[in-house]
Amino acid sequence: MKKGASQPIYLDYNATTPTDPKVQKIMEPYFCEKFGNASSSSHSYGWEASAAVSQARKHVASSISARPEDIYFTSGATESNNMALKGVCYKVLCPSTGSKQKPHVITTSVEHKCVHEVLSYLENWGVEVTYLPVDEHGICSVESIKNAIKSNTKLISIIFANNEIGTINPIHEIGALSKKHNILFHTDAAQACGKIDIDVDSMGIDLLSISAHKIYGPKGVGALYVRGKNPEVNLTPLQHGGSQEAGLRPGTLNVPGIVGLGAALEIAMTQKQEDRAHIKKLRETLLNAILPLSPSIKLNGHPTSRLCNNISLTFSDIQPGQFACDLSGIAFSSNSACSSDSTAPSYVLKAIGLSDQLARSTIRLGLGRFTTEDEINTVIQKLKGLLKKADISASY
Ligand SMILES: *Cc1c(COP(=O)(O)O)cnc(C)c1O
Repeated sequence: MKKGASQPIYLDYNATTPTDPKVQKIMEPYFCEKFGNASSSSHSYGWEASAAVSQARKHVASSISARPEDIYFTSGATESNNMALKGVCYKVLCPSTGSKQKPHVITTSVEHKCVHEVLSYLENWGVEVTYLPVDEHGICSVESIKNAIKSNTKLISIIFANNEIGTINPIHEIGALSKKHNILFHTDAAQACGKIDIDVDSMGIDLLSISAHKIYGPKGVGALYVRGKNPEVNLTPLQHGGSQEAGLRPGTLNVPGIVGLGAALEIAMTQKQEDRAHIKKLRETLLNAILPLSPSIKLNGHPTSRLCNNISLTFSDIQPGQFACDLSGIAFSSNSACSSDSTAPSYVLKAIGLSDQLARSTIRLGLGRFTTEDEINTVIQKLKGLLKKADISASY
């Protein structure tokens, strides 16, 4: 990656990733040269575009061990989550085809905002929603899901890997439970796909959301996996129009974006071990340098069942505003702006038991494929400087 000398060190890979130059190169011909409409079936421009989309569909499918025909391209994980949750509930609520019973959905208190917003909207339509608590590591227990199941439970929607604290939920067990009770299982895998091994069949997943820009693909493209058999999942479409994506998601396909998503996942699959080893090493370097400095620094998320690229740290002795001021030169995510703590504390951090104050004294460092050892060493120095200034680290 080209990095400008004046650019801050990018440690916000859980928010978005740069498009891998290899991905960009594969996308490029599909803007000007191979610009065909993938639905144009009467000439070579269309055939070329359609073949590229098919290829991408195979790559996306193989990254989650699914059938290509069960992949539907969308504009990103937000849209995929909307399609899945509304698509299932509208089907049940439909006056002509649905059942009389209002559907019940089980989810957690630590989902991505877009899942919470969709479900809160659906509550206006009579959908019942149970928001399950999580433990101090951010895990939603299978037992609590089991206890929440009711006769009208139609859907379980649980985040695969958390975007704030990196915790990976017991997806296998949740899938098995959903199958046992004939309830559909949706998972938001925006942070997980391309980073951890996913097999929709063995995990009992019926619906799965993917985003390209979290895995070195372009922004504004994603996919929804919709199980086509055993059982066949029927969704009410949110958009109506042409017959693209089997009518479930009509509209002219974003061919360059789709090609980019396919390429990003193909690359992610081939270099998964390499990426993981690189990122894990850098994560350990940082944690080994910082955690021993003071008992007041706490690492959030599950110790082992977690994404390797996420570091959520709470500095209980540091004022929230301090981070933005003292860690300038690093692009990371925090709940607080310099000299102001007016922003609402994170509901995810509160759900794992942090007070408002501690939630505001938490930062998220997201590492990625292009993070270097030099950058991590610089970050370590800056963090040490911050601790020294706050007079926390006696050993430094
Ligand atoms: C980024 C993210 C989303 C939203 O994805 P977009 O493609 O930006 O719409 C949803 N869920 C999780 C867990 C995410 O990390």
